[in-house]
Amino acid sequence: MPSGLPWSLVGWLGVSGALMLAAPAPPDPPPPSEEERAIEQRTVDMVVRDAKRWQREHGDRTLPWEDARGHLAIVIDDVGRELHLFEQLLALRYPLTFSVLPGAIYAPGVQLRLRGDRRRYREVMLHLPMEPARPEAMSEGAEAQETFLRRHDDPATLRAKVEEALARVPAAVGVNNHMGSALTRDAAAMAEVMQVLDERSLYFLDSRTIGDTRAEEIARVAGVPTLHREVFLDHDPSAEAIEAALDQAARLSLDHPVVVIAHPSAEVVEILGRRLPTLHAEGVGVYPLSRLVAATRATPIEGNSPAAGHDPGPERPKGEPVFRGPSGPS
Ligand SMILES: [Zn+2]
Repeated sequence: MPSGLPWSLVGWLGVSGALMLAAPAPPDPPPPSEEERAIEQRTVDMVVRDAKRWQREHGDRTLPWEDARGHLAIVIDDVGRELHLFEQLLALRYPLTFSVLPGAIYAPGVQLRLRGDRRRYREVMLHLPMEPARPEAMSEGAEAQETFLRRHDDPATLRAKVEEALARVPAAVGVNNHMGSALTRDAAAMAEVMQVLDERSLYFLDSRTIGDTRAEEIARVAGVPTLHREVFLDHDPSAEAIEAALDQAARLSLDHPVVVIAHPSAEVVEILGRRLPTLHAEGVGVYPLSRLVAATRATPIEGNSPAAGHDPGPERPKGEPVFRGPSGPS
């Protein structure tokens, strides 16, 4: 009994409570009239018609996974540094995956936009800055806004940096490295990063900015679902090279699901806008990266892993992909 409550109030509450319990149930509302039913039906028809029209004119162009001849995931890196190209990529009717830099000036704004349109799901990743081969690069231009994971960070610092970055991109379902040619070679650092990802049930995409990266291998050991980038769309930023790289990725995707990384540029926007409808018509679909991660775990790509449904385990894939793509920026 709360000591400050007067007995009279307690008694009143008790009596009114008992009366409420004893009271008969309220009567059912009268059934709607014919006219009310007709109005409701017309409203429903109108909403459904508008939604279908929107879907037809503006909605995503998707292919059921089983019906597609090829499967692509297109990850846009360095998201949050500008808005204009981002908006154009967001307007494409294909489910691209957006990897957001945690320290970028527009990181909060693009995340609001990404979750704003519930009719078109766009997967969000954390683009986690890691030490490149050339340390000076970490303080050049916009890079100075980012907190890089460094080779000489102790484990607690690495963990704190990953957690801080994840807190800035809370909708991320996966992580890939921004730069990182030095850090992704460091097995101990990668193990620390993967532990955090494992605790949060996030996947890892190895951007493969360097040939001897350990990131994918260490992720597998840690039990983190993982894939690697196979094609950099704009390693050579000329329009011809981007188009050739996209065609290369599409050809490879007829053999196995392919992860493509691209960066916001006018050329990338133009070529994706022009070529994706053709690829769609040819049966090559674009999927959120997590869809490829799931498919890879169920039916491992590159034809080298144990039985379907089993985790591929810590073994490195034996079969090399036909095309690794050029190495990206370090
Ligand atoms: Zn990047």
